[in-house]
Amino acid sequence: MVAFSPTPRTLMGPGPSDVHPRILASMSKPTIGHLDPEFSRLMEDIKKQMRSVFLTENTYTLPLSAPGSAAMESAFVNLVEPGDKVVVCANGVFGMRMAENVRRIGGELVLVEDPWGEPVDPEKLREALKEHPDTKVVSMVHAETSTGVRSDVKELCKIAKSFGCLTIVDSVTGLGGVELQVDAWHIDVAYSGTQKCLSAPPGISLITFSEAAAEKVKSRNQPVQSWFLDLSLLMAYWDGDGGGRTYHHTAPVNAMYGLHEALAMLLEEGLESSWNRHARVHKELANGLFGLGLDFVVAEEHRLPQLNLIKCPDETDEASIRKRALEDFNLEIGSGLGVFAGRVWRIGLMGYSARKENVSLCISALKECLAG
Ligand SMILES: *Cc1c(COP(=O)(O)O)cnc(C)c1O
Repeated sequence: MVAFSPTPRTLMGPGPSDVHPRILASMSKPTIGHLDPEFSRLMEDIKKQMRSVFLTENTYTLPLSAPGSAAMESAFVNLVEPGDKVVVCANGVFGMRMAENVRRIGGELVLVEDPWGEPVDPEKLREALKEHPDTKVVSMVHAETSTGVRSDVKELCKIAKSFGCLTIVDSVTGLGGVELQVDAWHIDVAYSGTQKCLSAPPGISLITFSEAAAEKVKSRNQPVQSWFLDLSLLMAYWDGDGGGRTYHHTAPVNAMYGLHEALAMLLEEGLESSWNRHARVHKELANGLFGLGLDFVVAEEHRLPQLNLIKCPDETDEASIRKRALEDFNLEIGSGLGVFAGRVWRIGLMGYSARKENVSLCISALKECLAG
């Protein structure tokens, strides 16, 4: 047996993104016990940092020891009980996964669908809520990674609130890349992940619950069906500075060092500076792609700077271009999903991947690969 030594790649797909060396280095520090007072201090720091990046005062703000998909599941299993009516706004893969979560819980699903490549239409949500005034929860994806579209979460949550609903927002790809304001936009549950715009390895997620959401969890008729993702059990584990913490599971200690460093770096840069950097680097990429005769799928005003859906020319085999980019340039770009499979590339500019030198590499690699 020989040691595994992965080839260093430039990651410009839909995630994971390039991990910053500072974050990788932080994860190689000595492992300590998960109930060690020093680790408790780290947990307290992480919760504070998370409130700053989510722009929230929520007490119930914590990391989960599992990837973004677990945060999605946690949002739904905690807020939704069997029989609860839930409106899911879906305009891509991740919206459909939300719908599947509602079905499996036994919630009453009302699906508000928009075409892939377009944002959620606020008027459709309003109509659905007029038709279903007994709706308890409304959910939506902020940054739809399968299509590269940003939806207007602020407007959608405003509508949901005017009908007295709780709101769930998936910002796994949004956080750090585009503006997200949990409190100001009236989001009850928001979640994200480490591997997109936070530039840390995959495996950890971040979630926050408003007071109203926490009240809903406390007043449930039935216990949360998932023991591992039950908010009240998790808070007992993540809470209690001063020795009150109780064993729930063993936190992935070194991964939490990485999360702490990633959040510290985002706060050092500043949220707005990070949003602006993503916008700036996205423009550079767009100019380079236009120069190669390539174009976007999504209309300019709805494009996510951090995830670019690019039309593959008709005569070109998209998979062979990605294969050559990986083999000859150690560059990973993403393929299309669902209706876009085989027709597009997904070029990520997330977190540490949102850099000028990545754009240069991507454009020169595509130029050479497309030339044949
Ligand atoms: C990546 C992603 C997820 C899932 O995160 P994992 O870490 O892959 O489990 C959920 N929602 C969106 C919008 C994503 O982009």
